Amino acid sequence: MKEILNYINGEFCPPSDGSFLENENPATGKVYSKVANSNSEDALKAIESAHLAFPSWKATPVKERVKVIRKVANLIKEKEALLAKAESIDNGKPLSVASTVDIPRASQNFEYFCDAITQYSGDAFPMDDTAINYVKREALGAVVCISPWNLPLYLLTWKIAPALLVGNTVIAKPSEVTPMTAFMLSEIFEEAGLPKGVINILHGEGARIGETLANDERVKAISFTGSTATGKVLNQLAAPNFKKVSLEMGGKNPNIVFEDCDYKQALTHAGLAAFANQGQICLCGSRLFVHESIYEQFKNDLVAKASKLIPGDPLNEKTRQGAVVSKAHYEKVLSYIELAKELGGKVLCGGEAHHPDGENKDGYFIKPTLIENLDPYCRVNQEEIFGPVATITPFKDEEEVITWANSTPYGLSASIWTQDITKAHRVSDQIQSGIVWINTWMLRDLRTPFGGMKASGVGREGGYNAFNFFTETKNVCIKY
Ligand code: NAD
Repeated sequence: MKEILNYINGEFCPPSDGSFLENENPATGKVYSKVANSNSEDALKAIESAHLAFPSWKATPVKERVKVIRKVANLIKEKEALLAKAESIDNGKPLSVASTVDIPRASQNFEYFCDAITQYSGDAFPMDDTAINYVKREALGAVVCISPWNLPLYLLTWKIAPALLVGNTVIAKPSEVTPMTAFMLSEIFEEAGLPKGVINILHGEGARIGETLANDERVKAISFTGSTATGKVLNQLAAPNFKKVSLEMGGKNPNIVFEDCDYKQALTHAGLAAFANQGQICLCGSRLFVHESIYEQFKNDLVAKASKLIPGDPLNEKTRQGAVVSKAHYEKVLSYIELAKELGGKVLCGGEAHHPDGENKDGYFIKPTLIENLDPYCRVNQEEIFGPVATITPFKDEEEVITWANSTPYGLSASIWTQDITKAHRVSDQIQSGIVWINTWMLRDLRTPFGGMKASGVGREGGYNAFNFFTETKNVCIKY
């Protein structure tokens, strides 16, 4: 059985205590590989390796850094089909999604930041004829990049690329639930010829190494994407050491459909926002609020759409709905459906597991589920479910829907559907979230600030925000 090893100082190495976790294919429920479960000794080795590689990587001209990182982007493109298949098997997502979204975006992340770094510069502030200040952005040193399982390679590369390009060395910690493409990425780094120690990839359970990573003074920053609960732990661990921390966490995003929307567009995107990637996207619109005047029709049309989304073998190219990521997650999502029923929710479609025939009969499939008749303040509407489960609620007016939209602890993203541009601005001004989409969902420009308010995030990544996070700012004042 394939063993997924750590990549430290240019070597593929087993964990120092020999401990491995089983890695399951969620579409079959079968273990198909083993992944290193690193401990603090492994973490210390990775930190040492990144720390020692830093001075020479920092001194490497930007042009040279870009050259080697572009090779990484090109190798990902060359191996797109292999990586997409691996991502689909590891995560349960349809191959059609991995091959059009996850893997292309991973190479784009490297390409985009390779271009952006050539334009990144500091400000200058002349003081009449007295002096001039110029602002430098300096690499930090060894930094930690921690990523979740829902978009495994896509989100890991989104952090690694800017961190490396500004001159930091990296200790990457992919999710132990979906480690395969991160392992393949370590082979790609090796093939591209990145100097030893510049990137180190540590596998296994985060809780085993979080404290070591957060406490070590050689680690200068932690960029984390994952749940709010883990973000809170890491923030607490890092705070006494004054470590830079960027936290991209959970969401419970509202999707607001006004009566004057472009109905067809709103309906199509409501389905995507609720169920894409099995509802396992932090930006998913899992709380749908529809104006009461179009509620019945919208609801029925969405149910008709969702009912056609039959989960099935992720590797079948026609499949649009795959398995959720793990048994534990499958049980968690199903438990929220039960809770919704207990709270008086009416299941309009789905509401149960799905058992395809053949090889996938023991996989973790859940039918796309839409639920109405729930209080906007109940647990199902307040807590992140992160599965193919959305609620739908009619609203009377703007004031009511804005209050409900802002009522959760989260504030990651929101969508607003209306043809009235004044209303769109008015509502967007009052929505507490880091991203507001008007008449769209998930339309991303890599230059824009990405992140959440409230319990969804601290700081912003994306574009120059990522470079700013991964650097220290220095003002130099020169008197004439
Ligand atoms: P998670 O918090 O369980 O794990 C995320 C990562 O943190 C994993 O690599 C894990 O091993 C590591 N980790 C866990 N405990 C740790 C510790 N004590 N110290 C250091 N690392 C630790 O999250 P998940 O279940 O993998 O991912 C789902 C969550 O991610 C959802 O809440 C989702 O909304 C969120 N997410 C947010 C964004 C965003 O950009 N805001 C994007 C994708 C996913």
